[in-house]
Amino acid sequence: MTVMSRSVFAANGPVRVNPNSCDGCGSCAEVCPMGVFELVTISEEERKKLSFPGKLKVRIKGNTKSMVAHPEACIACGKCETLCHERAIKVEKKTPVARA
Ligand code: SF4
Ligand code: SF4
Repeated sequence: MTVMSRSVFAANGPVRVNPNSCDGCGSCAEVCPMGVFELVTISEEERKKLSFPGKLKVRIKGNTKSMVAHPEACIACGKCETLCHERAIKVEKKTPVARA
């Protein structure tokens, strides 16, 4: 069984959120039709892993970040990537299933 990391730094499935860019606005969680995202408060340990601009963003915008909590549900529709005003989200296109 695969154990999914609960870290905002985790690379889970076809959608990625860059925690250095995310400002925790929550728009991705609102637009996602599949409930992939959760807004979380980052720990002090994770805050230390952020880049300098990422740490500055925490000071200005707060400790909330979007986390890919349910990557298995993502259908790679791309809505979140288009919507994110911080360009923090990247969605890999799912590989089409080959037909017999
Ligand atoms: S829309 Fe972008 S900036 Fe807003 S919470 Fe989602 S990833 Fe973060
Ligand atoms: S690509 Fe679509 S389904 Fe996947 S996380 Fe973004 S909005 Fe949700």
